[in-house]
Amino acid sequence: MCPPDRIAVHAADTAAAGAAPSPSMIADLVAANHILFDQGVVDAFGHVSVRHDKRPDRFFLARNMAPGNVTAADIVEFDLDGNPVDAAGRRVYLERFIHSEIFRARPDVVSVIHSHSHNIVPLSVVQGVKLRAIFHMAGFIGEGAPVFEIRDTAGHGTDLLISDATLGRALAAKFGDAEIVLMRGHGSTVVASSVQLAVYRAVYAELNARYQLQASALGEVTYLTADEGRACTNRVEGQVQRPWDFWKAEAAKRRAA
Ligand SMILES: [Zn+2]
Repeated sequence: MCPPDRIAVHAADTAAAGAAPSPSMIADLVAANHILFDQGVVDAFGHVSVRHDKRPDRFFLARNMAPGNVTAADIVEFDLDGNPVDAAGRRVYLERFIHSEIFRARPDVVSVIHSHSHNIVPLSVVQGVKLRAIFHMAGFIGEGAPVFEIRDTAGHGTDLLISDATLGRALAAKFGDAEIVLMRGHGSTVVASSVQLAVYRAVYAELNARYQLQASALGEVTYLTADEGRACTNRVEGQVQRPWDFWKAEAAKRRAA
């Protein structure tokens, strides 16, 4: 836990440099951590980041802890090499390089979510099977999410974690223009132009994966076409504020009780 006086000093330093983050952005990052736990996307593991609103070469991520318990005092600022600006003694996530290298490679990305959500993992390990958009709320997935194979970069003996910048760069390169990449035997990473949209996509990617597993067990599946996926994305993602406001209020109620 960071001593309160240390946080105050650090905040004063960044404010003096003209780079203090928007308090509402930090509040939304905290809420995103809670929502992702409440919606079953993360458990004790997984993380969400947001790019600094005044310094695009910096981003924010919680210290190494369970997302459901994150507070504003747990948020740490990082540079694009994955180094904390001032961790103040706090342990940081091993897989922070997922975030740093995606933010470096994709200037359009404002938020990144990495999770091991339960229905995604099976779809990362079967040859010839891909996560595909199966319903209108998940059109952003398209006709087949790319799968990152860590063996292509680091051989057959890794712990599967993205624990350095080289692995982070390889994962970031797998995205191309995609909004989600599955990671074989591990989980997935979702990107978006806002933290609200990233949360929405992470929640509905997990739901899409569940539907895909269920429907595949019943018979041949009719998936969205690429055009349907794009049309649904344009229509539905404009309404992201509605689920965000609802989930955020629910998360606050649970934690006030
Ligand atoms: Zn992971």
